[in-house]
Amino acid sequence: MDSRQSRREDVARGAIILLISVGLAVVIVAARIGREPILSPAPTPTPIATATAAPTPSPTLVPSTPTPTPRPEPPTPTPAPVPVAGVDDAYVRDGRNIVCIDPGHGGEDLGNVRVEDGRIVLQEKDFTLEHSLLLADRLREDGYEVVLTRETDTEVNPSNEDVNGDGEVAPEGGPARTDQLDDLQARVNICNLAAADLLVSVHYNGAENVFLSGYEVWFNDERPFSERSEAFATFMHEALGNAYAEAGYEAVDRGIGIEDHVVTGPERPGELVPSEMPGAVIEGLFLSNDDDAAFIQSDVAEETLVGAYEEAITRYFGVYPG
Ligand SMILES: [Zn+2]
Repeated sequence: MDSRQSRREDVARGAIILLISVGLAVVIVAARIGREPILSPAPTPTPIATATAAPTPSPTLVPSTPTPTPRPEPPTPTPAPVPVAGVDDAYVRDGRNIVCIDPGHGGEDLGNVRVEDGRIVLQEKDFTLEHSLLLADRLREDGYEVVLTRETDTEVNPSNEDVNGDGEVAPEGGPARTDQLDDLQARVNICNLAAADLLVSVHYNGAENVFLSGYEVWFNDERPFSERSEAFATFMHEALGNAYAEAGYEAVDRGIGIEDHVVTGPERPGELVPSEMPGAVIEGLFLSNDDDAAFIQSDVAEETLVGAYEEAITRYFGVYPG
């Protein structure tokens, strides 16, 4: 083989290799260029996706929050009422237990007093008010509605009105209490106006005979609801007896009595408008008796007496709900 021929062959072979490598390079570059336009638009959709998704889910959570529905209904008191013939018709139950507390006396009217060495040391009007106010607080805490005929040391008819309409008032310039009927009628009116279910008149006794002592409860038996008044007087009498025993004081039991009192009846047509609810007058102790007076000033007196009043009232409404 001659050398020229072989050189020609070499050149031709080199040209083919060059063509092939150039062609390959063109194909690779072309492939790269072809891919790139597809990749470049990809990052643009991301900001649109985040912006639209964020605000929508938050308001949908609000309707799921109304949780107060499982709140239990308050239990309605349903003590079994004891029917009383002829009386229940006049007593439509309204679910309100309204107590009218009447703290006896007040203002110029001291009530019974205890005198030592010619000086007044105890006044009925003070104990009746103090104990009635405490009783009212306790009853309200128990869920009762309470109205008081007085809440301060005053007459209930201080401006001397002719409350009972009998044309008579206390003499001009004198204390309004001197016409007791007007003052007592004013008390009855307060209880009637409140449509009270029960009247509790709180008093403490006194007598010239200093040996008289103990507790008694009075009711009237001539009213249409006297059976209820008697029931309440019975509860009160029992509660006082138990309370004194618990306190270790041997108070004299003077029992339950039937008597005329302005606040509890009977009716006095033309003279008084009667109270329209059952009730009783309580005489807790004798201020004029040494032992009773010592007890009522003791530390346990308040709890003994007010606790007994509260217990009797609670027991009454357990039988005769308002
Ligand atoms: Zn009295």
